[in-house]
Amino acid sequence: ASGVELLRDPRYNKGTAFTEVERDNHYLRGLLPPAYISQDLQEKRVLANIRSYEDPLQKYIAMMDLSERNERLFFKLLIDNVEELLPVVYTPTVGEACQKYGSIFRRPHGLYISLKERGKVLDVLKNWPEKNVQIIVVTDGERILGLGDLGLQGMGIPIGKLALYVALGGLRPSLCLPVSIDVGTNNQKLLDDPYYIGLRQKRTTGEEYDALIHEFMLAAKQEYGEKVLIQFEDFANHNAFKLLAKYGRTHLVFNDDIQNGLRASSFIHEQGTAAVALAGLVASLPLTGGTLADHRFLFLGAGEAGTGIAEIIATEISRKANIPLEEARRKIWLVDSKGLVVKSRWDSLQHFKRDYAHEHEECKTLLSAVQALKPTVLIGTSGQGSTFTKDVIETISSFNEKPLIFALSNPTSQSECTADQAYTWCKGKCIFASGSPFGPVTVDGKTYYSGQANNAYIFPGMGLGCIIAGVIRIHDDMFLKAAEALASLVTKEHLDKGLVYPPFQNIRKISAHIGAAVAAKAYELGLATRLPRPDDLLACAESCQYSPVYRPYR
Ligand code: NAP
Ligand code: MN
Repeated sequence: ASGVELLRDPRYNKGTAFTEVERDNHYLRGLLPPAYISQDLQEKRVLANIRSYEDPLQKYIAMMDLSERNERLFFKLLIDNVEELLPVVYTPTVGEACQKYGSIFRRPHGLYISLKERGKVLDVLKNWPEKNVQIIVVTDGERILGLGDLGLQGMGIPIGKLALYVALGGLRPSLCLPVSIDVGTNNQKLLDDPYYIGLRQKRTTGEEYDALIHEFMLAAKQEYGEKVLIQFEDFANHNAFKLLAKYGRTHLVFNDDIQNGLRASSFIHEQGTAAVALAGLVASLPLTGGTLADHRFLFLGAGEAGTGIAEIIATEISRKANIPLEEARRKIWLVDSKGLVVKSRWDSLQHFKRDYAHEHEECKTLLSAVQALKPTVLIGTSGQGSTFTKDVIETISSFNEKPLIFALSNPTSQSECTADQAYTWCKGKCIFASGSPFGPVTVDGKTYYSGQANNAYIFPGMGLGCIIAGVIRIHDDMFLKAAEALASLVTKEHLDKGLVYPPFQNIRKISAHIGAAVAAKAYELGLATRLPRPDDLLACAESCQYSPVYRPYR
């Protein structure tokens, strides 16, 4: 492209950063103001603009506008300021953006596949300008974050998630396809909203739903081949389970939110989250001594996140200590809203809790469970704030040299305790990590930091690993390797400060390490198709990473 078309193509546009020679050669003279502004200076300017908006939604809109006019500048800004801009492009702001998607709609992003496109989904995919798609994030909008059914407006999630694959993992933008499948919505507010951009009908279920999804799954494979990675995002649980079970053997599928449906009774929910939590525990081992198998784990919260993390811990212990999974599970105890999960509650327990229903008397409260079981690790996945009380923390520190306390619930208001509370109540003895970010805390003159268990540590590297190795199926062991790779990047200096995760600003390097580890496992398992295997997978991962720096045009 040249001339005005070049300026209007976000993939190639550089705005005022076109050089004099490029302006001559590409018919840009007069279409741009005379000043040449370097990419770095453009970046500074845009950042200053974005910072001037107080409303996060305005920042989000400004970021989306930027991605629509200059893709490289968008990604450079995001990569260089990842800690500041991640919450804008992804949670929490993306949630509000999805709720108001119709009102803030400008240019379409991604592919919209609605019931109107039934029978024509392959043609829809052919309309997408990129032919070499390797990763698709798809939602049907039924359970967007904690916000419920947002119908077609869930599109913000695939767009945001893929921006993270690029910015954090280093995937090339052209490989990424966001998809929103529109089967209607049961959200009356949206149905009544004149600006709603989806189908104005109640959600279709049953055969009609299955048929549209099936058509999409077949078309994706037909158009993009065996190795296209399809990530289901924010489907309602009942569908997500079904989809993973149905397509897990025929497609490269991955669900960041819920379990691996391929195994009959064992669950890895929240695979990405689970791997991040495991990484923090493994990274802490030099501080506590011993191995994971030497620990006793107590969870507050036995839902998707809790049981997912429990299961990945049990799997890791069983692999490392070479003991049966059942035996590893006995080191893990769960407390739900009714108290300690125990054998005597069996009949009324949801199936996914039963693997952890061990022989014990009932304990009605967390405190009594802590007193009875004397755990070394306390993990909060209850979604309930202020549940790790002073009593609980003092008790667990009374019999542990260094208790591990992970308060993983989000947002900050739901965190089981704050960093300040944890470090203060245990007098600086604990190792603390949380789902939401907390600043440093000073106790008795010593400053403690706390790591954030953010699943954005894992999934971008996972995607990178799958792509560099040409992975054809995802195996649970790849998540274990991803967790171990993340843990291995935690240094003594980090641990001395109380950090069980490496600093997030190094996320591209972290993703390359995770990608290499995941790829190595895939080759070992015979699930990689890119042959011959590169000798140095880390170098390969790093060299594959997308750079957003402008390219000179000849
Ligand atoms: P969920 O499936 O609804 O599970 C919540 C669990 O907590 C249930 O087992 C529930 O008990 C239990 N619970 C609720 N109130 C309780 C109370 N007062 N005392 C004891 N247990 C209680 O939710 P989820 O998807 O697992 O998410 C839970 C939390 O984890 C959320 O806050 C989420 O933000 C957080 N999370 C964090 C990350 C991260 O990356 N840091 C990732 C995913 C999720 P019943 O089973 O008896 O109802
Ligand atoms: Mn999600």
